[in-house]
Amino acid sequence: MIKKFIVYPLLVIALLFAITFGAGYTALYLEAKPKFYQLNDVSDVAPETPKQASQVYTQYRHLWLSEVFGFDQIPEDELARQANTYPGGMVIEGKNHEKKIALTFDDGPSQYSLAIVKQLEKYDIPATFFWTGSRVLQSPEIAKVIADKGYPIENHTWEHQRNGQRDAKEFWQNSVSVTNEAIKKVTGTTPSVFRPSYGDISDEQIEFLNEQGLTVVNWSIDSRDWNTRFIKQQDIVDIVNHHMHPGAIVLMHDDGGDRSNTVNALPAIIEHYHAHGYEFVTVEELLK
Ligand SMILES: [Zn+2]
Repeated sequence: MIKKFIVYPLLVIALLFAITFGAGYTALYLEAKPKFYQLNDVSDVAPETPKQASQVYTQYRHLWLSEVFGFDQIPEDELARQANTYPGGMVIEGKNHEKKIALTFDDGPSQYSLAIVKQLEKYDIPATFFWTGSRVLQSPEIAKVIADKGYPIENHTWEHQRNGQRDAKEFWQNSVSVTNEAIKKVTGTTPSVFRPSYGDISDEQIEFLNEQGLTVVNWSIDSRDWNTRFIKQQDIVDIVNHHMHPGAIVLMHDDGGDRSNTVNALPAIIEHYHAHGYEFVTVEELLK
């Protein structure tokens, strides 16, 4: 009797739970793994040819599960819309077909920033760091070491919130301007480029920051290294290398989780781009 009324129903519940969990996990996995598609062949376009429009080259398919697990970003269509609405004021890739690429690392400084710099130094290439004001004040020694080596330190908000809904002036005063000041205080340099956390920024905020002399920069290749649950070292390499295009701006991270995969993916990425005649530049250099 006990078996019939307690054990069997419990087994059925456990089975249903396992099926639901398994299906949910599989959906997340399928969403996260790189999805490649046919790219335009741009190899024979003259370097100085301007692009007709800016675009994000990596795909991100929105699923509600992403929001549950908290790793959703602004859709690539919206990033492209803003970049094409504010040419030169909001940028996601270089404006012509020169074989240049800018690697960017967000959310530091941290111990991973130092490990990343070690890799960059092996190949003698530059990169750009987008750091939050709060983290810069927490790790001023690391910030100073890297800034002193000549790497540009740019603005990535004060504490990495979703900011798109905030009043532009209030956002400037309480998040962006204070981060500029923190970076200036610690490194001696003032940022000229701003990257919104999650890529989340309103049109009004773009206009306001442009008036303050900051260019807003997101990305054309999202390495998805932030998704440590599913994206491994080889995935990062595959994503960044497959989406190679002139004027690429690559989103990567030097904090906000275990970034060993990012650090270790760098040699294969750098060697791939070098083999195809690309030059690594800072974001500022790419915008010229
Ligand atoms: Zn970030």
